[in-house]
Amino acid sequence: MNLQIRKPERIVIVGGGMAALTTAFELTSRPDWRERYDITVYQMGHRLGGKGASGRNQKRFDRIEEHGLHLFYGFYDNAFSVLRRCYDELARPAGAPLRTLEDAFHPHSLVVFEEQRGGQWHHQPLLFPRNDERPGAGTATPTPAQLIPKMLTFLLDLFDEQPLLKNPAATRGDRAALRLLRRGVAGLLGDLGEFLQRPGDGLVVVRREALLGRLLTFSRWTWRLCAPLLERRPDLRVAWTAVDVTLAMIRGMLADRLVEETAVDWLRLDHEDFRAWLRRHGASDEAIHASTVAGVYAGAYMADQEIGAGTALHWTLRMLYTYRGALFYKMQAGMGDVVFAPLYLVLRARGVNFRFFHRADALRLSADRSRVEEVVFGRQVAVKDDREYEPLYDVKGLPCWPSEPLYDQIEHGDRLADSGENLEDWGTRWPDAREPLVLRAGRDFDRVLLGIGLGAVPALCAEMIADPDNPRFAAMVRAVKTTHTASAQLWFRGDLASTGWQLPPPVMIPHAMPLDTWADMSHLLKRESFPGHVPAGSCAYLTAAMDDDQEPPVGREEAHGYCARQTARIRRLTEQHLRDSSAHLWPAAQKPGGGLDHRLLVTTDVGADPLDWQHFSPCLNPSDRYVRSIRGSTVHRLDAGASGYDNLVLCGDWTMNPMNLGCVEGATMSGIRAAQVISGEAIALHDDWLAARRPALRPPARERPRYIQRALNESTSPPYEARATAMYAAVLRAEPERLATLCEQHLGLNPARCYLPLGPSVVFYAQHNHALSAVDAPGVVPERDFGFLVPVAVCERRAGRLVPVGVAVYMPYLWVDLGAALLGGREVLGFPKGQARLAFPAAPDGAVELRVDAWLPPARGRGDTWREERLIDASLDGSARSRVRSLADALRSGFDLAWLASRGIDLAGQLRLLRALTLTLRTGGLKMVFLKQYRDAAACDRACYQAIVEAPCTRAGAPRVASQLPGALQLRILRRSGLLSELGLHGEGDDPERARVPALATFYTELDFTIGAADVVWAA
Ligand SMILES: Cc1cc2nc3c(=O)[nH]c(=O)nc-3n(C[C@H](O)[C@H](O)[C@H](O)COP(=O)(O)OP(=O)(O)OC[C@H]3O[C@@H](n4cnc5c(N)ncnc54)[C@H](O)[C@@H]3O)c2cc1C
Repeated sequence: MNLQIRKPERIVIVGGGMAALTTAFELTSRPDWRERYDITVYQMGHRLGGKGASGRNQKRFDRIEEHGLHLFYGFYDNAFSVLRRCYDELARPAGAPLRTLEDAFHPHSLVVFEEQRGGQWHHQPLLFPRNDERPGAGTATPTPAQLIPKMLTFLLDLFDEQPLLKNPAATRGDRAALRLLRRGVAGLLGDLGEFLQRPGDGLVVVRREALLGRLLTFSRWTWRLCAPLLERRPDLRVAWTAVDVTLAMIRGMLADRLVEETAVDWLRLDHEDFRAWLRRHGASDEAIHASTVAGVYAGAYMADQEIGAGTALHWTLRMLYTYRGALFYKMQAGMGDVVFAPLYLVLRARGVNFRFFHRADALRLSADRSRVEEVVFGRQVAVKDDREYEPLYDVKGLPCWPSEPLYDQIEHGDRLADSGENLEDWGTRWPDAREPLVLRAGRDFDRVLLGIGLGAVPALCAEMIADPDNPRFAAMVRAVKTTHTASAQLWFRGDLASTGWQLPPPVMIPHAMPLDTWADMSHLLKRESFPGHVPAGSCAYLTAAMDDDQEPPVGREEAHGYCARQTARIRRLTEQHLRDSSAHLWPAAQKPGGGLDHRLLVTTDVGADPLDWQHFSPCLNPSDRYVRSIRGSTVHRLDAGASGYDNLVLCGDWTMNPMNLGCVEGATMSGIRAAQVISGEAIALHDDWLAARRPALRPPARERPRYIQRALNESTSPPYEARATAMYAAVLRAEPERLATLCEQHLGLNPARCYLPLGPSVVFYAQHNHALSAVDAPGVVPERDFGFLVPVAVCERRAGRLVPVGVAVYMPYLWVDLGAALLGGREVLGFPKGQARLAFPAAPDGAVELRVDAWLPPARGRGDTWREERLIDASLDGSARSRVRSLADALRSGFDLAWLASRGIDLAGQLRLLRALTLTLRTGGLKMVFLKQYRDAAACDRACYQAIVEAPCTRAGAPRVASQLPGALQLRILRRSGLLSELGLHGEGDDPERARVPALATFYTELDFTIGAADVVWAA
């Protein structure tokens, strides 16, 4: 009998933030988890939580001290789901504080947007309607098509909900205008509902265009109607901008064809700024700069930045239209108490090990750089009698994290307490208590889960960033940016009303910098222990992003003193903010000369400025820096399973996750994704639109051999970025049967998928890429690139039928004029590039003369040498009348329904292809398909590698120039090259050497684009 006992996989988790704890929670949720895993969390300092950590200040009445203001959004399906299960398992006894999730999170619906006009700030309160759903109990996320009616209904609800809109001071005219506006929205709702219910309808394209026109007219009409109203009633501005922005979002979702996708690829919009996207879809300048839109930016700590449109739109749609219960939830104690203490207690009870005071200093790679060989930890303190550190203490019956370590459990704890050193400070000078702990792969662990914040990655992962074999890691660190944040908490002696604030307790955004966000958090006072003789009546949390005043330190040595300086800086900025901007919030709390009267703040330090007693929170550790989603950066994020190292899994709000935005939900999603990678199981992840992008057919990277990097290697890795590319494109008539044969010969290897020409046309293109760059090579190169494109339908073979799933282009022949481009193109993606001299017009307004001079074998006679010969030349024939009038016409002429039908594609499939083609034209997102192959060295008629590869090519922003040229390009193609018959081109003329091929139409464009890493959809 062969008894195999599988040893549990030893998993080292570095860092205990929301992401890593979620992974631990999911992996240990199965009853048999102990047979599979042995999990240990290593955490620097004395508490879990990272950016979400909070502590109780035992010297100041157990007041809650946060890293920054934290709110949960009602759409956090994953975070609430984890916490709901955690609270259920915690099963606190009746009467215990925060017994259930509902006790711990209370709904909050009032957001006061702030807008500056005429040098004055104005409150624009918006009360978000509630619904009956329970947070964390969600299942499916609505598709964009399902969301549009909700968006309009939401506007109607908003109209009905606003107490300010029912203002008795409104004139009859005002009310009539509002009624008209409401009626207009209701009318649109009817039209859109009907449109969206019948997406398969053949008239849909026409009706969409009509609808888009109608939406734009409605937006303009709304503005004309509202402009005079807004002059008189600025309090209505927020409602009006909500209408304008909503309409622009709907237009964008229709125009960019998001409504036709069930799993939208939001990344494809991320090259564009959200405001630019809204503007492109008809939002007015007023609305784009309105407080509601500014609130999206400020809420993501990106007030002065450009945010990726896909990420921001996805976030906005989820936030506004998929919340359960209420827009926001306020925690009923510190985030540490509400989130991280329960997670810690449940995980520990399940059997997860925790090692506090273990500061990870480095992850070291094996000699072949295929895996993490060592993880090195500094042991910051020793716990007395080598006992396990007990990190929580009781505040009014609630287990809470202290702001400082529980010194009595620590050897030399008194000295540490007196030293003023903070073990969470990356630059602390407190000497480690023991020699470093070095964990070794195989001996001590099988897998590492990296759960630290992105800001700390440069310090810990220097070897990975420098690894020439894994340029994506360095590219990710370069592209994804972080920011310092400033946070302050103020305790007032009086209640909120005594400060002069006249509305209910708000969340306010975006007010004046340097602290543009304020939330009243007075509900927390009852969880703190202020005695009767030190009354605290209200509490304000303020926060914003803070520019770096110096290069953020990476190493621990250079970090010394950094935190103290930043804390002092935040205190100074807070003082300035309270002096200059607090009158708008708290008019009754001002000094006679202006500025907040500090005497109204709680203090126990007689004689000192009461402001000093308040709490100011800097980034103690580079890991605490907030992760941003700058336009164009999200595509560089790495999936949990794509670290590039066999035994390293990533998690954190900086990894590729379906939210891709610095928030608890994003961190939770990344944690669940990491659990999926480790377990290999389909653990539920709500709204996982990325699943569609993960190539299921690909064997895991770690099972493939490592690419051996050589010095001066000209083969670089995608994404490739082309900036300022000038391109001529000419549409040529071709024989579809011939093209089908070509596609079958070149791409017909995959039994599950085929590529079929869309119709009787081929595109000749000639482009000059002025600045081409690769992710893993510094600098840019200029390169010319001429060739032929065949537009194809990508079809799956299902039950003997061809089912189109998209459109793509196949480039059977192309030439470049740069050796490096040739090498990289062939080796990485499989471009069948040849080298040639390529003549391209010096200036766009010069004569169009395009030439391909390639090395060709002699026409006859084995003894003759290869020569450079003119393969193709093309010039513009100004007298030729273009047979088509627009690019759309040109493409339509190349899209042949009868031809597709003859190849077995039914009407529904034909319409799907038409939609996909229009979407491609509109968004500039194109798929390229390649045959990648290498000849075998021994059996030369064999391939030693052969694959079908699909890569995304994405236009970045709108083209700078896009025009049809007068006349048409005339190509002259060398007859003996075989191109005419291969491509099914109709050659004209009597010249025995060269055939004339007139173009149907010729276009010129200037644009930027990116070619991303590919999917290997089939490999031999
Ligand atoms: C000021 C501020 C306010 C925010 N407000 C909100 C909000 O209102 N709502 C919302 O949803 N999100 C908010 N966020 C974002 C949210 O806090 C984060 O997205 C989330 O907490 C990130 O979790 P994480 O696990 O990815 O990373 P982290 O929380 O950064 O966790 C990293 C973990 O690694 C540990 N660590 C770091 N370095 C080391 C080391 N060398 N050795 C050992 N351990 C280490 C850290 O201590 C921590 O435990 C806010 C963020 C900030 C900064």
